[in-house]
Amino acid sequence: MSRPAPPLASLLADIRSFVRERWHPLEDQVERDDAVPPAVVDELRHKGYFGWSIPQAYGGLGLSTEDLVQCAFELSQASVALRARVGTNTGIGSEALVADGTPAQKERYLPRLASGEFTGCLALTEPGAGSEATNVQTTARREGDHYVLDGRKCYITNAPIADLFTVIARTEEGSRGSAGLSAFIVERGFPGLRTGAPYRKMGQAGSPVSDVIFEHCKVPAENLIGGQEGTGFHTVMKVLNKQRLHLAALCTGPAIRMLELAIAHTQQRQQFGQPVSNFQLVQAMIADSQTEIYAARSMILEAARARDRGEDVALAASMCKYFASEMCGRVADRCVQMFGGAGYVADFSPIERYYRDVRLFRLYEGTSQIHQLNIAKLVMRGGMA
Ligand SMILES: Cc1cc2nc3c(=O)[nH]c(=O)nc-3n(C[C@H](O)[C@H](O)[C@H](O)COP(=O)(O)OP(=O)(O)OC[C@H]3O[C@@H](n4cnc5c(N)ncnc54)[C@H](O)[C@@H]3O)c2cc1C
Repeated sequence: MSRPAPPLASLLADIRSFVRERWHPLEDQVERDDAVPPAVVDELRHKGYFGWSIPQAYGGLGLSTEDLVQCAFELSQASVALRARVGTNTGIGSEALVADGTPAQKERYLPRLASGEFTGCLALTEPGAGSEATNVQTTARREGDHYVLDGRKCYITNAPIADLFTVIARTEEGSRGSAGLSAFIVERGFPGLRTGAPYRKMGQAGSPVSDVIFEHCKVPAENLIGGQEGTGFHTVMKVLNKQRLHLAALCTGPAIRMLELAIAHTQQRQQFGQPVSNFQLVQAMIADSQTEIYAARSMILEAARARDRGEDVALAASMCKYFASEMCGRVADRCVQMFGGAGYVADFSPIERYYRDVRLFRLYEGTSQIHQLNIAKLVMRGGMA
C-alpha cells in the first residue's frame, strides 16, 4: 500500500505542468459547468494528489509541512476549484484522522482518502457556530454500541460530493464551549445523514458547498475519533493549526497567477503609443504585489519549517493565514486595475473570476478579524515579539 514519494523537485515540476497545460485551458468550462470534469478527477487520483499529507503507511506521500506548502504554492496558481477538489483530502478532510485517529480508524479510512476513492470534508460550522466555533449545538448521544447524531452543519466545502465527514458534535449534555465536544468520522451511507443542495455562491464555481443534516444519524461508537469523548475541539485545533499554513500557501498561488496575467496584459496593451507597463504608476502596482507575494511566501515557509521541527506554530499559522488572505485580496484588486475595463468583464479576461474566487479566503477558516484577535491574544501572552 505504501507509495514512494517522488523527489520534491519532480513533484513540483509535475504540478506546474499539470496546472498550466491541463487545468488552465479548462477553467472557463469549469466555471460554466460548475463542476470539475470526472476525467480530471481521475488524473488527480492517478497522480496521487489526494494523498499528499497522508502518511506513506496509509498510501499517501507523507509530505512534510514545508513540502506540502511548496506543492500548494504550485497547485493554487489556478482557479480555486482545482485545488479545492483535492484540498479537503490533503487538509481538513483527513487531518483529524492523521492527528488523532486510532490505528483501526486510520487503517480503515486513510488509504481511501489518499487514493481519492473517498472525498472527505470537515463539518464544524453551524448556523449558530461560525466565528464562535465552540457554540456547537449538534448532539451525539451514546446508545449501546453507537451514537445518535442530531443537528445541522452549514457552509461545508465538498459536502455535496463527500463520502466521509469529520463531524464535531456535543457528547456531554448541558456542556458549553469547547468542553464536551467530540469528533466523529461519518460515512455518507450511514442512515440519517443527508446533504443539502449546493449553494449559489459569489465565486469558486466547481467547488460545491452545502448544509449537512443529521436526523437520528446512527454512527458506530468505533467512529469516535481517538476513541475518547470530550477531545473533539483539541483535535480541531490541531487540524486548523496545520491547515492555516496550508491555506495561506493556497492564498499565495492565486496571487502569483493573477500578477503573471496582469504583467502579460500590461506589456501588450498599448495606450499613449506604448505598453501600459511602461507607466510608473502601473509599475508601482506590480512592485507592491510582488513584494507582498514574496513576504507571504517567506513567512509561510518559515512557519512550515518551524512546525516540522515540532515547534508550536499557533501564532505563526494565524499570522500567515491573516496576511496571505488579505494580501491575495489586495493583489486581486490591483490586477483588476491593471487590466482596466477588461479586468471587469468575464468575456475579456479571467481576472474577474479570480477576483470573486479569492474573496472567500478572508472569511473561512477564521475571518481576518478572528485572526487579528487571536494574534493579539497570543502576543499579549508573551508570544514571539
Ligand atoms: C464557501 C464557504 C466554505 C466554507 N467551508 C467550510 C468547511 O468546509 N467547514 C466548516 O466547518 N466551515 C466552513 N465554512 C464556514 C466558515 O469557516 C465561516 O463562515 C467563518 O468561520 C465565519 O463564520 P460566519 O460565517 O458565521 O460569520 P460570523 O461569525 O457571523 O461573522 C460575521 C462578522 O462578524 C465578525 N465577528 C464575529 N465575531 C467577532 C468578534 N468576536 N470580534 C470581531 N469581529 C467578529 C466576523 O469577523 C465577520 O466579519 C465555509 C464558509 C464558506 C462561506
